[in-house]
Amino acid sequence: MIRFENVTKRYADGTTAVDGLSFEVCRGELVTLVGPSGCGKTTTMKMVNRLTEPTSGRILLDGEDIATLDPVRLRRRIGYVIQQVGLFPHKTVLDNTATVPHLLGWQRARARKRAAELLELVGLDPSVHGERYPDQLSGGQRQRVGVARALAADPPVLLMDEPFGAVDPVVRERLQSEFLKLQETVRKTVLFVTHDLEEAVRLGDRIAVYGRGRIEQFDSPAAVLGAP
Ligand code: ADP
Ligand code: ADP
Repeated sequence: MIRFENVTKRYADGTTAVDGLSFEVCRGELVTLVGPSGCGKTTTMKMVNRLTEPTSGRILLDGEDIATLDPVRLRRRIGYVIQQVGLFPHKTVLDNTATVPHLLGWQRARARKRAAELLELVGLDPSVHGERYPDQLSGGQRQRVGVARALAADPPVLLMDEPFGAVDPVVRERLQSEFLKLQETVRKTVLFVTHDLEEAVRLGDRIAVYGRGRIEQFDSPAAVLGAP
């Protein structure tokens, strides 16, 4: 589904963020990228939706070299959730969630119906939370809206960059278990960045353990934890 072939990224200032990465993520698989800050996890994600381009090597999505795909069309196939989800402050939560269907040209009523379904999918009540504005939600609720919005166009791929990193531990744990349940239903191909090994182990079907610009281990949670 997603395949990195000897991908290197050197930024303009000479920093090598990612150095000869090769790995493959299967359809419907949730792979967590774990490692300390600055080891290239976010750069890896950004190359998948062409926010930044590899210096060398290539990335294939369903066998197609993404460098040959139109970035806008590519991003329709990829949902993206970041740590501080940017919601439009002057739009209700429902309208925020309906933005992507709307951009896809859906009629307003259909887009709003889809948005309501998505909010329910992430555990929010459309008739209550949907009518609020982003600053009337908790941090955890805002992250759920971010997940709902990323799922709006039903993309096969989800990129999640520390999506639960800014909420307190109790909320994080709830978001994690909700996300696992959600993933059982939607079965996206997911790349999930975290610096928390516990989170990586809990969520990942497989785990990519990063060291400076490289993947040092790519294996099941049990293997990463050193179990037999
Ligand atoms: P992580 O997500 O693991 O924290 P990043 O991919 O953000 O790592 O960063 C990897 C390395 O690349 C770091 O040394 C970082 O400082 C550097 N880096 C990231 N973005 C840029 C950029 N736009 N320009 C120059 N260096 C960058
Ligand atoms: P955010 O404010 O959280 O960055 P946007 O409102 O820009 O999110 O985008 C909403 C959705 O549209 C994302 O989940 C993603 O699928 C897609 N998208 C839009 N712009 C981009 C982008 N520059 N990079 C990646 N995905 C994008």
